[in-house]
Parts: sequence; C-alpha cells; structure tokens
Amino acid sequence: MRVLKFGGTSVGSVENIQSVLKIVQDIEGKKLVVLSAMSGTTNTLVEIAEYLNKYNLEAALETFTKLKESYITAARNLCQTEEAVEIVKGIFGSFRPILREKLNVGNEKKLLSLGEIVTTTMISIYCDNNNIKLKLLSALDFMRIDVNDEPDQLAINTHLNALIEEHSEFDIYLTQGFICKNVLGEVDNLKRGGSDYSASIMGAALNATEIQIWTDIDGMHNNDPRFVDNTYPVAKMSYDEAAELAYFGAKILHPSSVLPARLKGIPVFLKNTMKPEAVGTLISAETEPYKVKSVAAKSGITAINIKSGRMLMAYGFVRAVFEIFERYKTPVDLITTSEVAISVTIDDTRNLDKILSDLRAFGVVNIIEKQSIISIVGDKIGETKGMAIKVFGALDDVKINMISFGGSQHNVSILVQETDKVKCLRALNNTVFK
Ligand code: ADP
Ligand code: ASP
Ligand code: MG
Repeated sequence: MRVLKFGGTSVGSVENIQSVLKIVQDIEGKKLVVLSAMSGTTNTLVEIAEYLNKYNLEAALETFTKLKESYITAARNLCQTEEAVEIVKGIFGSFRPILREKLNVGNEKKLLSLGEIVTTTMISIYCDNNNIKLKLLSALDFMRIDVNDEPDQLAINTHLNALIEEHSEFDIYLTQGFICKNVLGEVDNLKRGGSDYSASIMGAALNATEIQIWTDIDGMHNNDPRFVDNTYPVAKMSYDEAAELAYFGAKILHPSSVLPARLKGIPVFLKNTMKPEAVGTLISAETEPYKVKSVAAKSGITAINIKSGRMLMAYGFVRAVFEIFERYKTPVDLITTSEVAISVTIDDTRNLDKILSDLRAFGVVNIIEKQSIISIVGDKIGETKGMAIKVFGALDDVKINMISFGGSQHNVSILVQETDKVKCLRALNNTVFK
C-alpha cells in the first residue's frame, strides 16, 4: 500500500484535479489518496469563524455564500452533472445551521472540516462518473486524537485497517487529510497544514511501502523559496534533518509530519504535481553525509530570560522553571543557560502572562517579542570544518539574541529580530552551501 497526499494547490482547479487523478492511476498497486481542501478554502473558513466571533453574521454569511458558489462552479466544471452540484449544495447546507451566532470551539472546528469534506466528495463523484474505481472513506471514521490532541495511533491502526479490509476489492481509497475526531467524539483537526501529518499517520497505520507528499514545488529546497531566489531541491535527506526543517519553518511539511513515518522506517517522497517527472526529495534513514541541506525560518517567536541569583550552584532550578512551561502546556523550542540565567523561546503565547507571573518567583524575567528562529540544518554540522565561520560570518551585521547548537548534530539555530529574517536567509544562502 502507498499513501499519496495531494495539497491544496494540487486540487485547486479542475485541470489540477485531473492531473492528480492521472498521477494516481499511473502509480501501480493499492493506494490511499489523502486530499486537502482546494487551495484557499481553509483560510476562508477561518475568516468566516473570525467574523462570527466578532458577531458579524452578515459578513460571515456573505463569505460563506461566495465559497459555496466557487465550489458549485468547480463541481459543475469538473463533474458536469447537476447531481454533483446538488450534492455540493447539500454539504454547504448541512454546515449552514452553525453559522448563527458566536461560534463555540466545537462548531468552529466543525466549520474548518468543510473544505476537505466537500473537495473529496466532489472528486469521488467525478471518479464514479468517469469509471475510476475508488472507495471514499471518511477520515472521521478512523482519525482520532487523544486528550493531549496527539494522534491515537493504536485506534487509527485498528479502524483504518478494518475499513480497508472491509472494502478490499478496491485498489484506490480516497480520504480527507487534516480532519479527525477528538476524545469527546467531536470533529477536530491536526492544525493548519495538517494533511501532511494525516498522510504520515495513515502510512504508519497501514505499514505503507511509501508515503508520497505531492505539492506545488519539486521537493524540499535548500532555502525558503518564498524569500530567497535560485533555491534548488535537495535530492536526499534523513528523517532527522527533515523533522528539524519542518519544525523550524519549512512550510512544505507540517511540523510533526515526519515522526510517524520515521517510527516505521517508511520512506517519504516529496513530489511536484505540476512536474511529476522531477526527482523531488527522498526522506529516509539515509542522508548525504557532512552536508548542510537547508536553511529555514520560523517567526512569531517570543524569548523569555530568567535571571536568578539562586541559580548559582542550585540543582533543581532548571526543573522548577520547566515545570511552569509544563503546567501551561507550552512547548519550549530553544534553550540556553549561563551560570545565572536561562533563556528559552516559545511560539505559543496563549498563557504567556501566567507563565511570566509564575517565573517571577525565581528572579528577574524579561521577554523579547517578534523574533525569528533561523535554523541551518544538515548532517553532523559540528564536525563540518569551517561551518562556524560560514554561519556567523554571514550574519556579522545582524543582532543575534540567542544561539543554540549541540542538542542535535543536525541543527544550528539562531534567534534574530523578525525584521532581520529575510536578510539572514539570503546571507546564509551565500555561505553555508559552499
Ligand atoms: P500544500 O498545499 O501542497 O500542502 P504548502 O503550501 O503547504 O503546500 O507547502 C508548499 C510550499 O512550501 C511551497 O510552495 C513553498 O513556498 C513553501 N516552502 C517553504 N520552505 C520550503 C522549502 N524549504 N522547500 C520547499 N518549499 C518550501
Ligand atoms: N486545508 C488545511 C489547511 O489549509 C490542511 C492542509 O492543507 O494541509 O490548513
Ligand atoms: Mg501544506
């Protein structure tokens, strides 16, 4: 079994959907196809939720109607039947009742599932009408998250394998990325960009021979193509390298999406739907040794510095500090320490005030906001001669707020002002790959 995931742009137009179906049919053997919503849909649904949360029902309904009309047009163009149009209208109609007043959290998550549901339904109707034999499975019947919002891999394994078994006469299965159910049995999701994560979790559940992530670019590039010119695809990288890049801002992969594949040793291919012949990137246990693979950046970071006389020679201090982050379920990204201080970075600031108030029991606490983590990722960076001068030489006129290296041999991370992010990405591009 192969798992093939296609992102929003890949299913963003009638032509692209037809290209996707050609790619799917050209790949041999059994496959599970995981789809995102058509591009822009989830952003629009978030916008609708924001209108409702501001009690602007009129704007919410207007945006909802426009989205519905765009899907009606897509269904008409793709499927060319009024029956398909009626089914699309029916799906939008079934979500309409929740657009009445301020959304509660449950209804907000339900609303966000609309895009994936309507996109997969429409494509499955097209396949039925065009003799492409395929079974549509609802991800809500097998994708589960636990109390900590982490995938419940055991439950997913059981339910997904049972469904495939039940419909074993099919070679192609189609399902939604992103969406799942939580412990309360409500519709939930794997956070923005979560379809990659869905594909990796499903691949692990099925012991897939490979997971293919099809998108709008020919693999993981050596730098962020949104900000740097002349980037190029990296042919091969390890799970560890890909995981660091995804976590530290390479948008092509959801931050958690490498882990399930790595645990099962399943190779992950990143491929371009618009250029299927391009080699792309292979992520596996193997890598090109002693080589920087890519530079990535993650913004919206807050650094917290705790200075304490009590840290001097005090065991238990670090534990006490980290218990506070645990208390508020806030992950810490970078950490540096000195004899009298600890600095950490976080990107989830929902509980920042409470965290700061608890930390003040230990000493003087300062924060710096609007920071970016710039990560240089590759194999055995510390053993690569001259790397330090290449990294820090490139950044000689940038104010550096933190440096983290040594946690893994795959990553040097540097904290800078958000306004210096693009300058850093470009400067590093001229040095670290030489
Ligand atoms: P999809 O909708 O298929 O999931 P995404 O937009 O989530 O696609 O991810 C693909 C995009 O990721 C690319 O178009 C590119 O702009 C961006 N990106 C950021 N960093 C990288 C990188 N290092 N290599 C490739 N693409 C990257
Ligand atoms: N449609 C969802 C989003 O835009 C999931 C995804 O595309 O991966 O976040
Ligand atoms: Mg994505």
